[in-house]
Amino acid sequence: MTDSSTLPLVVIAGRPNVGKSTLFNRLVGRRQAIVSDMPGVTRDRKEGEALLRGRKVRLIDTAGLEEAAPDTLFGRMRASSESAVAQADLVLFCIDARAGVTPADKHFAAWLRKQNKKVLLLANKAEGAAASNEVLEAYSLGLGTPLALSAEHGEGIAHLMGEIADRLPEGERVREKPRSRAKPLDEDGEEIEERPAGPLRLAIVGRPNAGKSTLLNCLLGEERMITGPEPGLTRDSIAVSLHDETGPIQLVDTAGLRRKARIEQDLERMSVSASIEALKMAEVVVLTLDATLGVHEQDLQIARLIEREGRACVLALNKWDAVEDRAATRQAIADRIETSLAQMRGIPVVTFSALTGAGVNKLLPAVRRAHEVWNSRVTTGELNRWFEAALERHQPPLVDGRRLKLRYMTQAKSRPPTFILFGTRAELLPDAYKRYLVNGLRETFHLPGTPIRLQLRGTK
Ligand code: GDP
Ligand code: GDP
Repeated sequence: MTDSSTLPLVVIAGRPNVGKSTLFNRLVGRRQAIVSDMPGVTRDRKEGEALLRGRKVRLIDTAGLEEAAPDTLFGRMRASSESAVAQADLVLFCIDARAGVTPADKHFAAWLRKQNKKVLLLANKAEGAAASNEVLEAYSLGLGTPLALSAEHGEGIAHLMGEIADRLPEGERVREKPRSRAKPLDEDGEEIEERPAGPLRLAIVGRPNAGKSTLLNCLLGEERMITGPEPGLTRDSIAVSLHDETGPIQLVDTAGLRRKARIEQDLERMSVSASIEALKMAEVVVLTLDATLGVHEQDLQIARLIEREGRACVLALNKWDAVEDRAATRQAIADRIETSLAQMRGIPVVTFSALTGAGVNKLLPAVRRAHEVWNSRVTTGELNRWFEAALERHQPPLVDGRRLKLRYMTQAKSRPPTFILFGTRAELLPDAYKRYLVNGLRETFHLPGTPIRLQLRGTK
């Protein structure tokens, strides 16, 4: 147990309704505060702990402190924040980018500048690069470069976590930006766009009790149970960052981080829908199985979702310590996956024990490789040399007594690898021939375990 009063203190401040509670939930990963459209609604809790880049911080949401404060908006903001800000190691000052900079924001910023605190200026509700002019306008608050993010949609959260971690006391990298001077709008305008290449986004999914939480704790190298939102509030997801030699990895998850419900059945029902949410945010998905139980229909269901969403996948066989005949178990599971999920042929399989930690070190390298495969590109030249040979080996079938004329192929995109096949009446190509081509692509260009898309374009 940590005494949370010794942790660095991060305070979220700003006028009502800018999204402070939503951000708090994102960072703490628990639905501790009630989010509401009504400004000034009472919040039941306002304090929690968050884990940012492996460091614990104490987080205060001043939205919970707005009650019974002086009557003007600025008065309320100031009264609610004063004591929290006084103790803060870092203040996250939030504005609503959609609304732009308001007079209350300006008042509060002027006051905040005088407090001599480290401040990070956050322009929230900027999902999908919305409100970019308003984000720039926030420079005028004189609190440094505004960080555009969306607390509700989870955009920019991993970046924010890094920015917070960089500003914590005792941090190795003290890299403070000047923040007491308003900068011209265009001078640093680029900085907003110039985000570092994002972290690999990873989801750990699987049925209840597969060992997802144990695995997560093992990966984080810390005995800490991260609890998710209460059952029923499936829309929340939380993000945790970790690093390997290649760089940052952001763990996006819902199911794996969810607190255990008393009623297991509820979790069973939830695990698929929760997985969908996590999948959509992830690039690579680790499908975790309890290897002692073999493959369950629900595992296949989740795997099909991964394929449908076009994500890279690594199959994790957990509880390997408890498996008696390892060779047979591995074979049985691999066979079942291959026969039930032709689309995921060659899926990388990693065996380990999240409980003892044995073998877990193989997981992230496998994740990186899956990510590379998912990102890979084949040149049109290579592709068509292979394609011609493939056509020779097996002629395209007759359709309505006429042979289809397949002309050439090109890779339209990666993530997942997507190919377009052009030809006369190409759209009539039977599935069996498509599978032949997809399998050939997979083998020739080393694309194991990733969904491959083949689109057909008819030409005249
Ligand atoms: P607080 O009063 O500052 O704590 O604000 P809340 O967290 O209660 O959020 C106020 C409203 O803004 C709620 O309806 C949220 O759903 C919404 N909101 C929060 N973050 C975002 C965001 O990133 N984008 C959008 N569009 N809405 C958000
Ligand atoms: P989750 O529901 O997927 O998050 O599963 P948990 O991480 O809570 O694990 C479920 C149960 O399986 C717990 O009792 C864990 O101690 C146990 N468990 C997790 N990993 C392993 C493992 O590698 N070996 C064994 N023998 N048990 C494990």
